[in-house]
Amino acid sequence: MIQTGAGTTTQAETDATLGKHRTVLTEDMVRKRKKSTMAEEELSRLPYSKSKIIWSNVLYIVILHGLAVRGLFYLPTAKYQTIIFAYIVAGIGGFGVTGGVHRYFTHRSFKAKIPLQILLLACYTVSGQNTVPDWVRDHRVHHKFSETNADPHNASRGFFFSHVGWLMQRKHPEVSKRGRTVDMSDITNDPVIRFHTKYFTLLKLLLCFILPIAIPVLAWTENFIVSVFVAGFLRYVYNLNVTWSVNSVAHIWGHKPYDKRIQPVQNLIVSVLSLGEGWHNYHHVFPWDYRAAEIGGYLLNTTTMWLDFFAGLGWAYDLKTPSEHLVQQVAVNHGDGSWQVSDNTGSYNTGK
Ligand SMILES: [Zn+2]
Ligand SMILES: [Zn+2]
Repeated sequence: MIQTGAGTTTQAETDATLGKHRTVLTEDMVRKRKKSTMAEEELSRLPYSKSKIIWSNVLYIVILHGLAVRGLFYLPTAKYQTIIFAYIVAGIGGFGVTGGVHRYFTHRSFKAKIPLQILLLACYTVSGQNTVPDWVRDHRVHHKFSETNADPHNASRGFFFSHVGWLMQRKHPEVSKRGRTVDMSDITNDPVIRFHTKYFTLLKLLLCFILPIAIPVLAWTENFIVSVFVAGFLRYVYNLNVTWSVNSVAHIWGHKPYDKRIQPVQNLIVSVLSLGEGWHNYHHVFPWDYRAAEIGGYLLNTTTMWLDFFAGLGWAYDLKTPSEHLVQQVAVNHGDGSWQVSDNTGSYNTGK
């Protein structure tokens, strides 16, 4: 019954204190998982040559950001309902990324019943990002080959590349090569995802642009142009940049309480903006934890709050999380000394 992200069910122990739906993973599983990827990582640490710029992507991204900046100037003239609505739509899209395509479809850190799968996909579509197979492959490769040429947004190539530059140029050959080694069978065999991918463009147009722009106009007679720029472009570009900041900021600025040997860090600001995805040093050590964090509570990890809510409804179950003892062991053995006690308040004390 118990499914883990890294080992067999016989190695799993269920920790009653963490709730009946949660699965606890042992250190042995973590070690095995790491070992299998280490040798492959070494293969990707080769020098990179300059990639070919895709000028159409550059133009598209620059124009999109120009339109979003124009949206800022429309803010003072927008109705307050439109601003609140745009913020909520950004949150829905954000949750679709964090709870949906990231924690569920990529990492399978919990199980979801069909209604929740559809809801997560719908929310994800609001964010207007890539197809689910593209997103999942990129992210699985990112975890497996972090900070190597096979990492699509390799943060060792600097802030700009890891934030948005990687979308403006051809992928490094290693990304495609290693991408083909990633197991995607759960995604390609999923009928719900297949349906979503088949009608992706239509769904994206509808949920990311047409509905968010039309609702303010129809519901509280917002000016059409204001709605296009505020609920449309500004909200969309905000969403994109928040997602990108997890790949850039949370790989550059912050502490490493769990593993100082890797580049991902804990970043409070990214966590606040991204609904709990900025505790990135933790996430790269325990990618199968449905909370993607040890600290933060619900306030700094609203994605976890919603997933717990859906667990309460019975729509999410088998939520995976490591034992506190394992987290402590890892932090003491490999952390930078900034970890001591998790108190779920959003801060960790200086230890060691
Ligand atoms: Zn990362
Ligand atoms: Zn991840």
